[in-house]
Amino acid sequence: METVAQVLVNIPARSIHKEFSYLVPEHLPQLDVGWRVLVPFGTRQAEGFVVSVHPPADPLVFAAEDVSVMKFIVAALDEHPWFDKDMFATAQWISEHYLTTLTDALRLFIPGKSGIQNKKIYQATTTADETVDCFFQNREPLYRELWLFLKKNGATDEQHLKKQFSATDLDWKKVLLTLIRHKMVETTGQVMFRGRPRYETQLRLISEPFDKSSREWLKLRPKQQRFLAILGREGILKMADLPRWELSRDMANRLIKAGWIASELIPVIRDTYAASGDQKTAEAGTKALTAAQQQVFDSIFLFLNSGEYRSFLLHGITGSGKTQIYIEAVATVRQSGRQAIVLVPEIALTSQIINRFKERFGDDVTVIHSRLSEGERYDAWRRLRSGQSGIVIGARSAVFAPVPNLGIIVVDEEHETAYKQEESPRYHARDVAFARCRFAGAVALLGSATPSLETYYQSKQGQHVLLTLEERINNEPLPPVTIVDMRQELKSRRRGVLSEPLRQMLSETLEKQEQVILMLNRRGYSTFVMCRECGQVLKCPHCDVSLVYHASSKFLRCHYCLKQYPPPSTCPHCQSRYIKYFGTGTQKVEEELQKFYPDARVIRMDQDTTGGKLSHEQILTSFSRGDYNILLGTQMVAKGHDIPNVTGVGIISADTALNLPDFRAAERTYSLLTQVAGRAGRGGKPGQVILQTYNPEHYAVCHGAAHHYLDFYQEELEYRRQLAYPPFVDLIKIVISAKKEMDAWEKARRLATQLTLPDPMPDTELIGPYPASITRVNDVFRIHILLKTRNASVVKARLRQLELHCQPDMYVDVDPVNAI
Ligand code: ADP
Ligand code: ZN
Ligand code: ZN
Repeated sequence: METVAQVLVNIPARSIHKEFSYLVPEHLPQLDVGWRVLVPFGTRQAEGFVVSVHPPADPLVFAAEDVSVMKFIVAALDEHPWFDKDMFATAQWISEHYLTTLTDALRLFIPGKSGIQNKKIYQATTTADETVDCFFQNREPLYRELWLFLKKNGATDEQHLKKQFSATDLDWKKVLLTLIRHKMVETTGQVMFRGRPRYETQLRLISEPFDKSSREWLKLRPKQQRFLAILGREGILKMADLPRWELSRDMANRLIKAGWIASELIPVIRDTYAASGDQKTAEAGTKALTAAQQQVFDSIFLFLNSGEYRSFLLHGITGSGKTQIYIEAVATVRQSGRQAIVLVPEIALTSQIINRFKERFGDDVTVIHSRLSEGERYDAWRRLRSGQSGIVIGARSAVFAPVPNLGIIVVDEEHETAYKQEESPRYHARDVAFARCRFAGAVALLGSATPSLETYYQSKQGQHVLLTLEERINNEPLPPVTIVDMRQELKSRRRGVLSEPLRQMLSETLEKQEQVILMLNRRGYSTFVMCRECGQVLKCPHCDVSLVYHASSKFLRCHYCLKQYPPPSTCPHCQSRYIKYFGTGTQKVEEELQKFYPDARVIRMDQDTTGGKLSHEQILTSFSRGDYNILLGTQMVAKGHDIPNVTGVGIISADTALNLPDFRAAERTYSLLTQVAGRAGRGGKPGQVILQTYNPEHYAVCHGAAHHYLDFYQEELEYRRQLAYPPFVDLIKIVISAKKEMDAWEKARRLATQLTLPDPMPDTELIGPYPASITRVNDVFRIHILLKTRNASVVKARLRQLELHCQPDMYVDVDPVNAI
């Protein structure tokens, strides 16, 4: 009797999330938990994940009659189980913690979300010739051509047909459909396995050296002799490279047949980042740790190879040498043959950390970034899985990398919101990292100059070991921050964007041939357009948010649905002609800079200027090379780069983040100020920071300017305690959406009642329903319900019972980073 496997079918339908039973065929005895398989599902074949395997007809599990109707698993997708024990356990944790289906959680570990692709195959049917002629009689010639093509070539996929017929005038797809409708052509599905390695043919000599006086050699033509001579010299030739030597494939094939040459299929592994890193030199990237670093490292060292889970929070000010500690910790893990995952918030902004790892570890580093093709991603995964590569660096999804022998996960800048995925499943990579390390018996090492309140609090509670670096390397001082009260500037009738002290700093720094970073938390020329007569702000007709005027394109743009509108000459509400552009944007600052510092070379970095591959990196590289004097941009200029000649930092407005209607606004502001200020004075030269604000008394601004994390932490924690926000409660946000506003409200109210009746959930406060801060996006209305709870497990059990995660018009966001 066969073994029975329970399989989750990887089909993104919310309703199919139960396990299906399949028989394990005799030729696949290795199948076990964690394997990806191909199974028959309905009329087609689908990818499945094996979640359990049962002994031959366990009568406790299956009735005999059930077994008799079960279908067989068709094939295994890989040569190994895709999911290790710890990966599988992590997926289970994700599905429980974030209230998703296990299938959705498992899918996170698959590049491209699915391992197979269903392809349609076309074939001419066998039809009697007389009916055929009759069919084609009054039709365009293409009908007959297409049919004959299929008849001649047999089973053909769409791509092939497209190549052949897309140049024709007629719509070949329509022709094909007609042929199918008249049963002249039939279609079948074919399953393609994605991510199979690409192969290339390599050629080698079979015996070497050859006896040039032998009869066989003398029988060869001169061209063939030349072929063999070149191959002898080169050792190995790729079939694809032959034209470079003016050699032909035909000749190669003939020589293979004659027994001179052996050919081999070798899987090709693509690595697009390989070119950008320096090659490993024996001691490159090693630095003797400072005493403070050594002390921190010693505390981690003991646990690195213990095989036990341990988590650390490294709180170190900017430039204190955290990255060097990550490198040493990873090196230790590698020495014992275990592997490392290094998470960074955003690959494009973190080339420096990548380069430092590449410098130290060379090809052992695999970089995962969003612009990798699916094939490249599979190759990267394969290198890690096979142990060819020991270190993976990537953004949040790299936490799912298939490393079989995990020793450490580093989470750099752990406070960054980029670690939260804003589409379902809404996981937080930092928390997934904890789970995965726990299951794998690995070390989680988090680092930040401004730890998130939650993580710092957990450390204080003893959940993580707290380590601190209080000094910068070489005891460089943190730059002094000058707060400029913009209200005073206004009173002194200075209406410019650049205040007096900021301009002074700019003059001084440029004078010394040093560089400046200016941060502005907005983009576009003016943030919004307002009518001075009726006071209305121009909004996107589909999204209920203010439109942003972009001077470069002279268009109004919605930053949510990305639609563009020409700016009206009169107010659409009252027809007044007095509509005016308000707010300040990057381009306005640029204009003022040009006015006051006409010789300064300014480079801009914001979403508008950065579209192409690695262009963030290029901007940063040319700025750090000294091609420009001033780097101007949105908050992305604040992130982890280290440019020695930057001594001046200006924050045009500290208030933008502060005014966000979110309970984390102060925390965001504090961290942003600290991060951007931390860019100044890193190269042995003293730095200075100018911070412009309309809220100089705000504690996030004051403590940020003073670099007093602990003071900020205490004050913020007290406020969270009083208002019952994390870390004192867990948040669960439910988002209800509908095309019609009324429907959304009704659904939301019904749900709120379900959640509170017959008895309210214990230790839980239900807030709402209330409209989302941006109520309408792309004409869909969104209503929120926020649950604040001290008893998350009970609340989650209730939500699971209601099966909210299976409903198409609702989603649950556990631990949301945007509570509004
Ligand atoms: P962080 O990650 O905390 O911002 P980094 O690791 O980038 O700090 O270190 C800041 C600077 O100090 C970098 O230029 C780095 O190369 C240098 N550095 C770090 N550790 C050492 C060390 N032990 N000896 C000399 N230079 C160091
Ligand atoms: Zn108006
Ligand atoms: Zn819009």
